[in-house]
Amino acid sequence: MDPGRKYGTCVSNNTNKWKCIFCMKETNGGISRLKHHLVGGNTSVTVCPNCPEHVRAELQNYAIKKAEERAAESLRYEPVLNDGEADVEVEPKQKANPNKRKKRGPLDRFIIYILVCHVNSS
Ligand SMILES: [Zn+2]
Repeated sequence: MDPGRKYGTCVSNNTNKWKCIFCMKETNGGISRLKHHLVGGNTSVTVCPNCPEHVRAELQNYAIKKAEERAAESLRYEPVLNDGEADVEVEPKQKANPNKRKKRGPLDRFIIYILVCHVNSS
């Protein structure tokens, strides 16, 4: 389960509308927007003034775990993509969800940057 759900209440059964339990602000962009509100790092979302540090840390850890999974996926596929002589007939599975490519926040980029550095240095 997404830990962000613990810190918001769903407004009028609309899963896109969440109310922050710390400052009562309503967000309209679904659970991920609520999390951006709590954690910060997204310039288009107001950061929660009341969110406790441990909650921020929990959500960040969750985001990092997710980003690690994504990074692991792309790292696994990278050699294939970079190999000019590779079999072009490979089924384009990794292009599955174009929605995932939309709006990646600065926090995401930061996390991926950290992960890439970490992977390269180990
Ligand atoms: Zn808030």
